[in-house]
Amino acid sequence: MRSGRALSAAGLIDAARVGEADAVARRYAVAVTPQVSKLIEPGAADDPIARQYLPDPRELTRMPEERDDPIGDDAHSPLPGLVHRYPDRVLLMPTTACPVYCRFCFRRERVGHGATTMSASEIDDALAYIAARPGIREAILTGGDPMILSPRRLGGILRRVAAIRTVEILRIHTRVPVADPKRVDSALIGALRQRVPVYVLIHCNHPREIDRESARAIAALADAGIPLLGQTVLLKGVNDDAETLATLFRAMVRHRVRPYYLHHPDLAPGTAHFRLSIEEGQALMRALRGRISGLCQPNYVIDIPGGHGKVPVGPVFRAEDGALRDWLGGLHEDPHR
Ligand code: SF4
Repeated sequence: MRSGRALSAAGLIDAARVGEADAVARRYAVAVTPQVSKLIEPGAADDPIARQYLPDPRELTRMPEERDDPIGDDAHSPLPGLVHRYPDRVLLMPTTACPVYCRFCFRRERVGHGATTMSASEIDDALAYIAARPGIREAILTGGDPMILSPRRLGGILRRVAAIRTVEILRIHTRVPVADPKRVDSALIGALRQRVPVYVLIHCNHPREIDRESARAIAALADAGIPLLGQTVLLKGVNDDAETLATLFRAMVRHRVRPYYLHHPDLAPGTAHFRLSIEEGQALMRALRGRISGLCQPNYVIDIPGGHGKVPVGPVFRAEDGALRDWLGGLHEDPHR
């Protein structure tokens, strides 16, 4: 479903909202899969699944601090489809298409409308770039969503990167297991079997995104021995309370997905209604510490605008006078000083 009319026909928005949904869809791509449609509670304006995927007229308001390229990919892109920000790893973006388009996407200016896939010669150039730099040990396929490619095409790209002897790890960032779990079949899993380990990072923001279908897809990946990590974007009105985050991270671990990153939302255009302050994010992480197991605790990180990379942003458990703060807020003298 990509238009206001289709969303209305599916009962996801009122007929009165078709016009405004189409206005947003003309600016930023919209796509809702049958799986996501099934998870949305019709008519609930504040439904956390609907907020992630259904167009909102507030997206058409751009704040002065927002940027087309909030994490500075362009500043570190020596070739089309390749970003080299850190010495030991590169990003490869084989496609700018996704099965769904998240309303808060940090690459919303390049995914969706006019989505492209890297041409054969662009792939050749990217592989030659990696092969010429033995310090690159990890290649991260992102996008867009690489798992929207056919298993044959995805497997072909992975195989060629894995054939570079200095590459030790491959990684795929994807929404597919939760947003379009039917794509996770034996052909896709076969494509993930490579000379080097392929880590799959599953983007999931709310516990309701893990239902029976997505659990089956996640289990199929885990049973195939694929290491699974979770990434979550902290979003106002979706998961900005400790109870929801605790439930989500526990569910991930139960399904063999280790929570890895909790991303502070980026300054993508038209996304101010999703953002909260770093202090609010730190308070949430502080509330989780001690209440849920360390296995369930992701790193809370922010991408510094301008391409300066990701940094952890706490929370800090050391008071200004050097005392150690426990998970209930009690202060204790640091015995190591
Ligand atoms: S799946 Fe990822 S790249 Fe695609 S719209 Fe969502 S956040 Fe953006």
